[in-house]
Amino acid sequence: MELSANAKINLTLDILRRREDGYHDLQMVMQSVTLADRLTVTPAQGAVGQAVSDLHFLPTGGKNLAQMAAAAFRQAAGLGGQVDVSIQKRVPVCAGLAGGSADAAAVLRAMNRLTSAGLSSVELAKIGERVGSDVPFCVLGGTALAEGRGERLTPLSPLPPCSIVICKPHFSISTPHLFGRVNVRKIVRRPDTSGVIAALDAGDLAGVARRMYNVFEDVLEPRRAVEIGEIKAALIDCGALGASMSGSGPSVFGLFHREDLAQEALERLRSSYRDVFLCGPAGAE
Ligand code: ATP
Repeated sequence: MELSANAKINLTLDILRRREDGYHDLQMVMQSVTLADRLTVTPAQGAVGQAVSDLHFLPTGGKNLAQMAAAAFRQAAGLGGQVDVSIQKRVPVCAGLAGGSADAAAVLRAMNRLTSAGLSSVELAKIGERVGSDVPFCVLGGTALAEGRGERLTPLSPLPPCSIVICKPHFSISTPHLFGRVNVRKIVRRPDTSGVIAALDAGDLAGVARRMYNVFEDVLEPRRAVEIGEIKAALIDCGALGASMSGSGPSVFGLFHREDLAQEALERLRSSYRDVFLCGPAGAE
C-alpha cells in the first residue's frame, strides 16, 4: 500500500502555561501542507518489521516512528501483523514540520485499511497520541486548533488556497532546550489565535497571514533569531502576506496569494539554502 504523509506548519504557536507535570499547555493553529513523504507499507519479509528510508541516519527498527505507530496499532486494535515500511523522505528531519509524526500517522491509516479494522479517524488519532503529540493532528490533517500538548483537536475552516514557501536553515534546534528558555510569565508577544480563527472562517488569507506568530521566536538564541528574521524578511520582500517559524523551528514559511511571487521567493532562498520548498495547503484526510 502506498501513501503520502503530509508535513504540517504552525500558523500560530502559543504557550499558555507550564503544567504541574512539567509539560506546557499549548494553543496552536496547525495546517497540513502538500510537502510530503511517500510511504510503502507491505507485510514484513522477516519476523520483525523494518523501516527503511533514503536517509541513512534514521532508525530502521522499532525506534522509527513508523514502526512505533505499527506497534501502537497492533496493541490498541488487537489486529495486524508485522509490516515493512519504505519511506521516501521529502520532509526535512528535525525541522518543526512533524515529518516523523506524519509517517506515523500514515502507517496508522495503512494498518487500519490493511486489517479492515474500520477505526474512525478520531480513534486512530487516539492511538497516535501514544506515539507523539503531533501524531493525532497528522492523522486528521487539514486545518485545526491543537491544544493541551497538541492532542486536543478542533477542526477549523480550511486555509484559503495559497502558495506556501518553506525554508529550513542549516542549523537545528533542540525542542527541550527551547522549552527550557521559555518563561511563560515573560512572553510579551503572542499570536492573535482567535483573530486567525475568525479570518479562516471569513476565508481571509491576508487576515490569517497578518496575525500569525510563534512565541518560540522570542526565545531563540540571538544568532539564530537573526537568521530566522532574515528568512522572514526575504519572504516578505518577495511578497509574502505573512511569515512565521513552524513548531520549534528552525523552518520558516511564508504565505503567498500569487504563485509567481512564491516562485520568486523559492529561487531567491535557494541561492542560500538547500531545503526550500514550494507547496500548498492540504485538506483533512
Ligand atoms: P515536530 O515538528 O513534531 O517537533 P520535527 O519536524 O522537529 O517534529 P521529526 O523530523 O518529525 O522532527 O522527528 C525527528 C526525530 O525523530 C529525529 O530524532 C529522528 O531520528 C526521529 N525519527 C524516527 N522516525 C522518524 C521518521 N520516520 N522520520 C523522521 N524522523 C524520525
